Amino acid sequence: MITNTQKQDFDLFIEGKIAPSLGGKYFDCVNPSNGEVFARLADADAMDVEIAVNAARLAFDHGRWPQMATGERGKFLLRIAALIRENAKELADLECWSTGKTIKHATFIDVPTCADTFEYFGNFETPLNYETIEIPSPHLCLVDREPVGVVAAIIPWNYPLIMAAWKIAPALLAGNTVVLKPSPTACAAVMALGRIIVQAGLPKGVLNIISSSRNEAGKELVSHSQVDMVSFTGSTETGKAVMAQAAKSVKKLTLELGGKSPNIVFADCNMEAALGGALSAIFMNQGQMCTAGSRLLVEDKIYKTFVEQLVKRAQTFNIGPADSFETEFGPLVNTAHRDAVLRLIEQGKKEGAKLACGGKVPAGTNPKGAYLEPTVFINVRNNMTIAQEEIFGPVLCVMPFTSVDEAVHLANDTKYGLAAMIWTEDLIKANAVAKRLRCATVWINTYGAFDNAVPFGGYKQSGFGRELGKEGLWEYTQLKAITTDRTPGGKPLASSWF
Ligand code: NAD
Repeated sequence: MITNTQKQDFDLFIEGKIAPSLGGKYFDCVNPSNGEVFARLADADAMDVEIAVNAARLAFDHGRWPQMATGERGKFLLRIAALIRENAKELADLECWSTGKTIKHATFIDVPTCADTFEYFGNFETPLNYETIEIPSPHLCLVDREPVGVVAAIIPWNYPLIMAAWKIAPALLAGNTVVLKPSPTACAAVMALGRIIVQAGLPKGVLNIISSSRNEAGKELVSHSQVDMVSFTGSTETGKAVMAQAAKSVKKLTLELGGKSPNIVFADCNMEAALGGALSAIFMNQGQMCTAGSRLLVEDKIYKTFVEQLVKRAQTFNIGPADSFETEFGPLVNTAHRDAVLRLIEQGKKEGAKLACGGKVPAGTNPKGAYLEPTVFINVRNNMTIAQEEIFGPVLCVMPFTSVDEAVHLANDTKYGLAAMIWTEDLIKANAVAKRLRCATVWINTYGAFDNAVPFGGYKQSGFGRELGKEGLWEYTQLKAITTDRTPGGKPLASSWF
């Protein structure tokens, strides 16, 4: 049980042990609600990365983890899930203090979802191993799904615990060994997860978790000759660098990247549901969601009323420190990110968009915190910077449309292809529109309907590969076809050849 989490040190999890970095250095973890340092994180240097990768390599090449039955590995995941639930309060506090997400969000979404993902994969029933393929006799072909090897898992700061679970659970279940590197921006809860996982008794080196203040640590993992696969979640810009680096050694790669998701509201929607959905889609987690519905497309017939109500409600949120259960809208992850969002807001104004609400630091909040008002822009054109760039903050761009074709055109007019939302009571229209959208997730009359069984990922520059579901599990496997000629004694493929 983790207790007294304030101002404590979090060390690396390497070779089955929790230990400081070799250099003994730490970096600060700052609470964006008040600007105070609440923890120190071990700062892995290149040698720590090396040791972590070697531990994972040894565990894969010589350990029993890849040889275990899938169900046996699953039991470890179930133990981890149980430990997460036992330590839920501490993990939620740490997630809240380090990311600025509200304690309500961390308690009811992040921590339980993290445990659920370990449970889902722990109970996974489809066998990973042999499938027989019918080919002409006398051949028999068995297709085996094997683990890829050592997986470097690199995650962002917006949903650290959930992102960690989405990668660790399927990668381990498939028999890989893992080195996980969270973002230096907010990783106290993930490092605490490492401490918790120690108690699950995984064989030494199967999972390693390293914090580092240096983005170089990610590069070192991606370019490491002993890493077989990179599973990356982060911005499209970093994803491109990771792809270029991984190409040098032809590593297997999955990229889960950014988004600029359209939220399409038709006049025949249930207005109350669509309003709530539009607000959640851009203001939950202070808009720091890859699937944020940051472009709101509203049918012209209801545009005026819908926007008026939306803006009215966006101004009623209870803004304050993330660790109060009363708070509905906390700070952004840090002041540097908040200031970057403010610069994009200025850019939007310069390009002619009009602020309907927000756009500044909210009055009465802690000046050392990273607060920003929920912000809504109208008079937006889809080619403006604010409509094309992923702002990754609580900034909504609203645009009207007059026809289904125009809505589809606007929705697809982006380099991203992560998610989209559609609000209408005409489900035939909704499904027809869903099919025309170039993105990997469409939510009809809802927002954020994630499920561990449903594959999630991107089209276009939102990346490739899938997380969750059996497709997400398959990403961490490679196929081997074993074909046997059952003719007694065997024979050459083309007996007349030589
Ligand atoms: P980021 O790209 O800055 O960093 C992501 C991770 O990559 C961090 O751990 C960072 O340390 C590491 N990194 C940085 N440079 C690297 C390099 N050259 N090589 C290897 N690793 C490197 O992203 P962020 O700011 O932490 O997170 C926000 C982004 O993540 C947004 O774009 C968001 O849309 C995206 N995201 C996507 C999904 C998804 O599933 N598609 C989910 C959550 C977040």
